[in-house]
Order: sequence, then C-alpha cells, then structure tokens
Amino acid sequence: MQSTRAHLATVDGKLYDGSVGNPKELVALQQDADMIRGQLGKLEEAVLIVTSRLEAQRASMTAVVDQLTAATAEHAALVAELTGQKQTLDAEVAELDGRRALVTGKVPAADLRVYTTMFTSRQGRAVARVERTLCQGCRVNLPSVVVQRVRTSPNLVQCPSCGRILYT
Ligand SMILES: [Zn+2]
Repeated sequence: MQSTRAHLATVDGKLYDGSVGNPKELVALQQDADMIRGQLGKLEEAVLIVTSRLEAQRASMTAVVDQLTAATAEHAALVAELTGQKQTLDAEVAELDGRRALVTGKVPAADLRVYTTMFTSRQGRAVARVERTLCQGCRVNLPSVVVQRVRTSPNLVQCPSCGRILYT
C-alpha cells in the first residue's frame, strides 16, 4: 500500500504541477492515476479483511489462554488438596502401624503367621464369625466338634473349608 500510494503521489504530481502540457500525455497520466486508485482501493479492502480475521483469532486466542489459566489454577488446587490428604493418610498409617506393632507384640509368632497368611490369601479377611454352625467367611456348615473347639479351646481354630480363624 505504501509503494502504491507513493506511485499515485508521483503520478498526481506530474498531473497537477504543470510540467506536462501535452493533452494526450495528460489523459494517459489521468488513466494511470485512476488505475492506481483502483489498485489502492482493492488493497485497502484486503487489509480490512485480514485485520478483522486477525482480531477474531486474537479473541479466540485470549479465550484459550483464559481457559488454560483456569485449568492450571484448578490443577494446582487439586494437587494442594491431594497433598494435604496424603499427609493426613500418611499420619494415619503411621499411627495404625504403631498400634499394630503394639498388638502383634502380644500375639504368639505362630498365630501371627496363620493370621498373616489368611489375611493375604483371603483378601484382607483373616477371621470369620461362627453363627450357629455356619462359618460366616465361606458359609460352610461346620462339624460340631469344630464349633465346640472354637467355643472352648484357648488355641486358634481355623475353618476346615476356607481356613479363616474362627470366633464366636
Ligand atoms: Zn470358612
């Protein structure tokens, strides 16, 4: 646009500064000036279109940046929350570990081994209550001698079916 405007100024200058007297030459200069004005108009339209597209893109970019900023803040808040929860749970685990150590210290090693094995193989449910004659761990009917032993024996009694430690 700058060079077209400069070109037009040159042609207009020749047209009006009186340096050209020949009518044919003047007509030709006028035609040149009209043609250059037409080109300049088209260039201005093109610049307007590009400018409006640029504005639209700038607006959508701003929206994306806003979304990203909000998502980043949300992420940071979530990380802070989860970090806090982890600290709480770590403290709880440490306390429970301490309590477990106190309790296991009083349990005979052989019994603890049975409990640990059952805890692992029975998805964390190492003990089962006996209701009437049913093991509540596996729902199998227990022989009466086993039920009797659960009630009277000071030793661990395991379910003959699922192996869980029985209690009444
Ligand atoms: Zn059982």
